Amino acid sequence: MKVNTIMTNQALPVAIIGAGPVGLAAAAHLLERGETPIIFEAGAEIGANIRQWEHVRMFSPWEYTADRATVALLESHGWEMPPKDTSPTGRDLIEKYMQPFAQLPEVRQHIHLNSRVTAISRRYIDKMKDTNRESAPFVIRVQCDDGSEEIIEARAVIDASGTWHSPNPLGSDGLPAMGESSHQAHIYYGIPDVQGKYQQRYANKRVMVVGGGHSAINALLDLVNLQDSYPKTCVTWVLRTTNMQRIYGGGSDDALPARGQLGIRIRTLVEAGRVSIAAPFRIRKISTDETGVTVTGETPQGFETLQVDEIVAATGARPDLIMLRELRLALDSSLETTPLLAPMIDPNIHSCGTVRPHGEAELRHPEKDFYIVGMKSYGRAPTFLLATGYEQVRSIVAALVGDWEAARDVQLNLPETGVCVTDWLSDEISSVAASACCGTPSENVATPVAVQEVVSLNAISLSSTKPQPVDSQTSSRDCGCDDTCCT
Ligand SMILES: Cc1cc2nc3c(=O)[nH]c(=O)nc-3n(C[C@H](O)[C@H](O)[C@H](O)COP(=O)(O)OP(=O)(O)OC[C@H]3O[C@@H](n4cnc5c(N)ncnc54)[C@H](O)[C@@H]3O)c2cc1C
Repeated sequence: MKVNTIMTNQALPVAIIGAGPVGLAAAAHLLERGETPIIFEAGAEIGANIRQWEHVRMFSPWEYTADRATVALLESHGWEMPPKDTSPTGRDLIEKYMQPFAQLPEVRQHIHLNSRVTAISRRYIDKMKDTNRESAPFVIRVQCDDGSEEIIEARAVIDASGTWHSPNPLGSDGLPAMGESSHQAHIYYGIPDVQGKYQQRYANKRVMVVGGGHSAINALLDLVNLQDSYPKTCVTWVLRTTNMQRIYGGGSDDALPARGQLGIRIRTLVEAGRVSIAAPFRIRKISTDETGVTVTGETPQGFETLQVDEIVAATGARPDLIMLRELRLALDSSLETTPLLAPMIDPNIHSCGTVRPHGEAELRHPEKDFYIVGMKSYGRAPTFLLATGYEQVRSIVAALVGDWEAARDVQLNLPETGVCVTDWLSDEISSVAASACCGTPSENVATPVAVQEVVSLNAISLSSTKPQPVDSQTSSRDCGCDDTCCT
């Protein structure tokens, strides 16, 4: 990679951080407008985050997972869209859509793989300086795979770096549980490929899945499939909430049928005893001995432990903001998204995930010509959909080329979610509901055990976290949502 010599702002490219689906869509919109993108991808291949869950089938059909400008450029080279009403796996999305796009001659010259952006600032201007700030080009520090560093200049920056590589920890307070960092060998963050390369890691093991979103449900369904071939595989689902209606989601009312099916399938398996539930169970400590991993959690009955072999942490993700430290950002204090976007997507309020169309205006930061888009634009909110990201970058690119009418004309036709899955935010607390594991009790059964005697937990006071009784739950609607967005 070459450091670009000092150029006038307009001659500089627009930098895109991340060659995920939204970063590539930003490139397509820039090319369509006659602009020059420069795309930095930390991974050795495009779509590095999606490759970690490539075995998972998406709930959105192709109609909602492909971007218009990207499709237009692909089609100009003879590409054909897969059937619109079928849903791709993560691998399909890469191999049938993102990779063909990235390989187009007019695109591939702009993509830099193995190029991790580590910091961004303005030329000669630190965060405190006002003078000439808006006219100064961005300077972008890029670390290459050989350890060398480059400085690249750009006239605007679109951060589409996602959040998948920055998972939430297991502690229910948002901090790592005690012992979490020293027991990483037993924890997988995300959705392991249980049927494929991780089969032996989980076969006939006692596996705990933590989290109440679609990622957790996908992991649970895969583990139950593994039980068919390895019947001693024992699956325990740990949740902070007992509002299962909310976890199971919209079911047959979900406008994305594949997503509704996830909730229906897991509910059936729970009711059949293939998955045991420990809820509410707020993880405080992880330790190991010769019998395996001991997970200590707080329940209405006090501290209890679960004995397992492996933990799958499907607890969502959060934006990594360190590389943006030198930029002037305006971030919502809770969600870490822009203040205008936050109330539209706050899962505390909009547990159904419905979102009004939004674009450049809602994503603007005090730092002119810098935008966070895609999954990362939602901060800690888990309800992002690709169709939203594609409209974000269309609007932002229009603004960057001065087409303000198009930038403001934001349109988004998203399916109603009908889903209320935001486990890591829920406050509902009730009693432990731990049913028999794997249908029949066995030596593998992960049964919560009252362990009042181990409640020292390094002398942390626990009295301030007394759970509420189950009848103080506030779900006011049939779907389990406690807000008014479900209609
Ligand atoms: C299991 C799963 C299923 C999903 N299913 C759907 C679905 O059905 N429908 C839907 O609409 N959405 C779905 N989503 C949500 C969302 O659409 C995806 O997370 C999508 O991948 C987000 O795209 P993105 O481009 O914003 O980020 P990502 O796909 O996460 O891409 C970010 C890219 O940036 C790179 N990067 C990160 N940091 C740096 C850095 N410092 N420098 C350079 N590069 C960097 C990463 O390597 C990565 O390639 C799903 C998400 C998951 C996890």
